Amino acid sequence: MLIVGVTGGTGSGKSTVCTYFKEKGAKIIDADIVARDIVLKGMPALLEIKEVFGSDVLFSDGSLDRKKLGKIVFASPEKLNILNGITHKYIIEEIKNKVFSSNEKMVVIDAALLFETELFKLCNKTIAVTAPENERERRILKRDSLEAETAKNRIASQKENSFYAEHSDYVIVNDGDLDNLKSKTGEILKELM
Ligand code: ADP
Repeated sequence: MLIVGVTGGTGSGKSTVCTYFKEKGAKIIDADIVARDIVLKGMPALLEIKEVFGSDVLFSDGSLDRKKLGKIVFASPEKLNILNGITHKYIIEEIKNKVFSSNEKMVVIDAALLFETELFKLCNKTIAVTAPENERERRILKRDSLEAETAKNRIASQKENSFYAEHSDYVIVNDGDLDNLKSKTGEILKELM
């Protein structure tokens, strides 16, 4: 099994790259989806979040108010670190379970925090997807219907493009249209096969 990690800042185009790998038969593990699953109602990670951030970040039915928590942590690197300290261990454990229960020839892990966690160690190859910051901002404003300030905070809370590029085996500069992104992804896929 070939395990590939795809990383980059928000709005760079990681998930889009992964859809192209999926079309070629790869199994995709999206760390954002795993991150959502591990904080569902009653999960141990959510109980830890409640202890640290208070019940204010929960709705009255006990589920997580993601928007409220997001506003708090994306405006404060310190609080983001605390949240990551709670969630990362659960996310990594769940991703490992998913990788090692797969039968596919290629498994792709889509994770912004590939290098900031131990996830990169699972991977045979890593790919950074980068794009100019103003383009990333424009994309996430549209995709997530955010306020401009929230989009800026999200981008500022992550590493710069160069960090992802320097640590990865391959770099996809996503500064063209979607056809261009698909063909750049196809070139790497050919090399990987
Ligand atoms: P990430 O997973 O890195 O946050 P996505 O793959 O979700 O980024 O891309 C962010 C948004 O930008 C999505 O709505 C996607 O369809 C769009 N997008 C990505 N790359 C391009 C591109 N080259 N041209 C136009 N839209 C793009």
